[in-house]
Amino acid sequence: MKTIGLLGGMSWESTALYYAAINRGIQKALGGHHSAKIAMVSVDFEGIKARQYADDWAGAADELAAAARQVEAAGADFLLICTNTMHKVVDEIAAAISIPVVHLADATAEVIRARGIRKVGLLGTRFTMEQDFYKGRLRDRFGIDVLVPDTDGQSFVNRVIYDELCLGAISDVSRAGYLRVINKLKAAGAEAVILGCTEITMLVGPRDTDMPLLDTTAIHAEAAVRMALAEA
Ligand code: GLU
Repeated sequence: MKTIGLLGGMSWESTALYYAAINRGIQKALGGHHSAKIAMVSVDFEGIKARQYADDWAGAADELAAAARQVEAAGADFLLICTNTMHKVVDEIAAAISIPVVHLADATAEVIRARGIRKVGLLGTRFTMEQDFYKGRLRDRFGIDVLVPDTDGQSFVNRVIYDELCLGAISDVSRAGYLRVINKLKAAGAEAVILGCTEITMLVGPRDTDMPLLDTTAIHAEAAVRMALAEA
């Protein structure tokens, strides 16, 4: 079994979900008392968030590249960056290490393609919804049409991520608001919705809506389990 590298802490609430999902996946595949071999570095999110909002992506990239080097030095065979948003600087992180990075958007796109979905809605931080590093990759590399919420919808979804979900706060009012945004995306032609922020799965899931949801945290964790167990 290979050692899975996790670059976490963004936020720790979702990294805890990764840790549990990966260990459950390995235990399910191998049985007994098997659990995952994991090397993790968990950063202090306050500083990363400050850099995001100050548009200091180069500073964030440096900090995460240093953390990724620590993960590699701890023996990881490959790396997961446990946040959709920070894939904005995936190239800088990948350039700092010699182990492969399992790109979250690519893992998600493969699931979308396997299900024959052509047009998806995307929920995430405002950086992920507004900018092109994520939705452009889905479009250009995989031919997937991506719809995002309107401006009000984007601000609401973003605010709930940072002010509630990253702090572990789950609210029925926010869930109802997310479901309204999801229904609008459906009305606009989305066949499924990407939960493109690793905390959103704490708020909404298949129990709340008939709309197919693509849980990026679960998809990324499953990809890691498959890769850890793959023959060399
Ligand atoms: N975990 C989130 C994501 O998947 C947001 C936190 C962050 O900005 O990294 O995008």
